[in-house]
Amino acid sequence: MLGTASAVPFSDRNPSAQALSVRGRLYLLDCGEGTQQRIRQEHLSFVKIQAIFISHTHGDHIFGLYGLLSTMSLYHRTEPLTIVGPENLRPVLDFYKSAFGADDSYPVEFKAISPKEPELVYEDGDIRVSAFPLNHGMPCYGYRIEEVVGLRQQPWKPRSYAYCSDTAPFPELAAWVAGVDILYHEATYPQQYADKARQYLHSTTLDAASCALKAGVGRLLIGHYSSRVKDISVFEQESRTIFEATTAANDGDIFEITR
Ligand SMILES: [Zn+2]
Ligand SMILES: [Zn+2]
Repeated sequence: MLGTASAVPFSDRNPSAQALSVRGRLYLLDCGEGTQQRIRQEHLSFVKIQAIFISHTHGDHIFGLYGLLSTMSLYHRTEPLTIVGPENLRPVLDFYKSAFGADDSYPVEFKAISPKEPELVYEDGDIRVSAFPLNHGMPCYGYRIEEVVGLRQQPWKPRSYAYCSDTAPFPELAAWVAGVDILYHEATYPQQYADKARQYLHSTTLDAASCALKAGVGRLLIGHYSSRVKDISVFEQESRTIFEATTAANDGDIFEITR
């Protein structure tokens, strides 16, 4: 967990970003401000990042991209980097090149997505990633990551993870993340601020927990906490009233995906 805050960074909590490690390869889910410093703190390697999956272009999910892209070049990365995200991320990436004269040492392969329902958007030898729309008032996508299991790894069962941020609840989502080992679902507000969640197209603790229950996931992680709430223990307490296997994530937390 590289960032579990919502709109603004704090000393101990960055805006949204996560690193998924699969057999030594890294994949980023969103890239909020400060992501590269958090990567350093966690002793993760910039060169191992294969792909970055962006949910949407609200600043708290992408303000860390420019710095990270630049650092990879300063480290003389040569392998291509895949960035997956909505079409409106394209001008953001174009501006990086034009405004800063960035002549990066590696090619960026941008894949614009606009799925109406789950659709395969990325595949390599280790993972398959499908994307699906979220309900956030702008193009915004969730990702479901499935481990690819080779013949040699049988009878190992493939593990799965889903990342859903930001979104208001909607009926189809539970089916789209059904049965994953770990679901990350934003829970910006405790139930007390349910009106704000509806207004800004976010979820409450109970929305996230209801989705996890309906989807039959193994474990629920929540984050993207509103800065209105100082004591985040309320998020976990509330969510557990519906889905016991909930953990309120903090920056620096590491979760192993097991079946
Ligand atoms: Zn956000
Ligand atoms: Zn947002």
